[in-house]
Amino acid sequence: MNDTGAAFKWKHAKKMTTPNPTMAADSTGADLYYRTQLDQGNFQIQRCTDCDRSIFYPRMICPHCGSDKLSWFSPSGRGTVYSTTTVRRKPEHGGDYNVALIDLEEGARMMSRVEGIAPDAVRIGQPVQAVLVDDQSGKLVVFNPAEPKND
Ligand SMILES: [Zn+2]
Repeated sequence: MNDTGAAFKWKHAKKMTTPNPTMAADSTGADLYYRTQLDQGNFQIQRCTDCDRSIFYPRMICPHCGSDKLSWFSPSGRGTVYSTTTVRRKPEHGGDYNVALIDLEEGARMMSRVEGIAPDAVRIGQPVQAVLVDDQSGKLVVFNPAEPKND
């Protein structure tokens, strides 16, 4: 009986420390799709088909209602600055840059930066438009100042 118990414990311990490739693929699937589309020039975010809210950052489960019925779509790219910060950096390292939280008009909020104006000239509530730029690691969504939307 003691032998059986030891064998069970060993099996259990082994199972706990064996990486689960299926689980790893699931948790990175949404992010991988996002990156792959972005590198092809397609900026896509998710929408929950149960509660109809837009979602960013890419994930497998809706953060609003817990549904796993998420679909991809291309947002308009129009948004407004929710918050903005100037990150100080020495000129020899590229100078100051902007970090901003942008509210997309579809409702999702994303961290990015506003380019095309001085980092400290970015204002909360300012209309912006998404553009794709090349980064060291691939394409990246940044925002340029935009004209206010005329309804
Ligand atoms: Zn939902």
